[in-house]
Amino acid sequence: MVAVSFACGHGEQAGVPGVVSLRRPCPVCMLLHETQRSRSELLGRVAPPERRALAGETRVGARYTWRCARGHDRYTATVLDVLTGPSCAKCMANAAAPGAAREAGMAFMKPGLRVGTSMTEQRLRMLLGERIRLHHRVNAVRIRRMFYGKQEVWPDILVPQLRVAVEYDDPGRSRRAHLGLKEASDLEKDDALREVGWEVIRIRAGGLESFGPYSVVCRTLTVEAVDEVVRLMAEIRGQAAVDALRVDAASAS
Ligand SMILES: [Zn+2]
Ligand SMILES: [Zn+2]
Repeated sequence: MVAVSFACGHGEQAGVPGVVSLRRPCPVCMLLHETQRSRSELLGRVAPPERRALAGETRVGARYTWRCARGHDRYTATVLDVLTGPSCAKCMANAAAPGAAREAGMAFMKPGLRVGTSMTEQRLRMLLGERIRLHHRVNAVRIRRMFYGKQEVWPDILVPQLRVAVEYDDPGRSRRAHLGLKEASDLEKDDALREVGWEVIRIRAGGLESFGPYSVVCRTLTVEAVDEVVRLMAEIRGQAAVDALRVDAASAS
């Protein structure tokens, strides 16, 4: 493994022979910045014996023991999980409980919700998962308005770290619904997500036209289309935020 020093001062000591100096902050500092949190806030949540190690941590995939802010049992999770979503098992269960007060914009796990039923959707999830780290424990987002009788929406794929949802649309998928009605409902769904700080990228396959500000129009789902989705994520939230989720970055940590 290459010894690296980062612009934030974390990592190896700069200037030492054999140490590569990078001009960017370490992945943990970048993620803290992206999620608008501070390192001291993070240090306040870790188990005290691990505080010293976390103070100099550069890897978002490093696992630590955390104290739940709501007083549940300690739990282990990666820095990435702690910064980007509910990570305490009890908190997650509470968030999924019916009637629980949930914050608008929060991604959560809706138990029993079908995930990736179509082959194409599974392929999309797989191809995206080869590029960025996907959160497999969330499938719904709390919104401020009612949408089909619920205060939540269930996009195809959620990237809570970026607050970006990815939807796959093709004519076959909405065959049973009137196309106009489907589009009206998609428009409303996208608006509801934007209201709570999310953005939506839509893959429009099989001859569907561009829809919304971030569309990837393609004949079928291809590797290029998925690369374009990742490129749009960087356009929406910045390259650093996407780089922090890169699978190669996560596996190197
Ligand atoms: Zn750093
Ligand atoms: Zn908890």
